[in-house]
Amino acid sequence: MKWKTFAIGWSLALALLLFAARKPPMPEQNSHGHVIDLTHNLNDRSPNWEGTKESPFQAKEQGNLDRDGYYSRIFTTQEHYGTHLDAPAHFARGMWTVDEIPAERLVRPLVVLDVQTQTRNNPHYEVSVQDISDWEDAHGAIPSGAVVMAYTGWDYRWNRPKEFHNLQEDGLPHFPGFSLEAVEFLVKTRQVVGLGIDTMSVDKGATTTYPVHRFTSQASVYHVENVANLGQVPPAGATVVVAPVKLENGSGAPVRLLALVK
Ligand SMILES: [Zn+2]
Repeated sequence: MKWKTFAIGWSLALALLLFAARKPPMPEQNSHGHVIDLTHNLNDRSPNWEGTKESPFQAKEQGNLDRDGYYSRIFTTQEHYGTHLDAPAHFARGMWTVDEIPAERLVRPLVVLDVQTQTRNNPHYEVSVQDISDWEDAHGAIPSGAVVMAYTGWDYRWNRPKEFHNLQEDGLPHFPGFSLEAVEFLVKTRQVVGLGIDTMSVDKGATTTYPVHRFTSQASVYHVENVANLGQVPPAGATVVVAPVKLENGSGAPVRLLALVK
């Protein structure tokens, strides 16, 4: 008995020595395949919709390790800041708020439309029915109930908020989005449950009427905006996990967005 106790004690001490205060190594790949993070860090340096100097995100230290023995903060943020979700309630009365979107709609097949070539010299580009048709020629019909994201390449500007926002003399930001025609096609014929894009909005920047937002909200379709790393995801075959903070009555919320790739 004594020897056993000693052996257990010794291996525990060894384990503590090896793992104490270390970040653990990467676990082995799970059955879902590998995981790509489609989320920008939430901080006060990200582009913001209003283009204000003061960030809509603030974090204040509350607990301090030296002083209190633990570290914690209070943070505040705009609902539509950083990589975030738009709930249908954002543009339509009586539709789902963030907490009401059924969880089944948050883990779905992911389709990525690569429109970098089209947007390279055109910040007003709108994803077209032709782009969808080209994707389907290569990969087959978009699966029913998918989330469709546009990879415009705009996220290379993320660390330069002024360029990302791209405010022009007309007082409007200028960046690519989806055309209403393409979105109507996706929702009505492919039963898409969510849209995503690596710009600030699924509507192109230079609009004051937000036709895509108004249509999708009425159709109970959500959006994810300011998506990161779409260039790392294959155009077909991935699964997306859309995990917003479950904010009651939220018109939108910061989201943790992950792609599972076989
Ligand atoms: Zn939006």
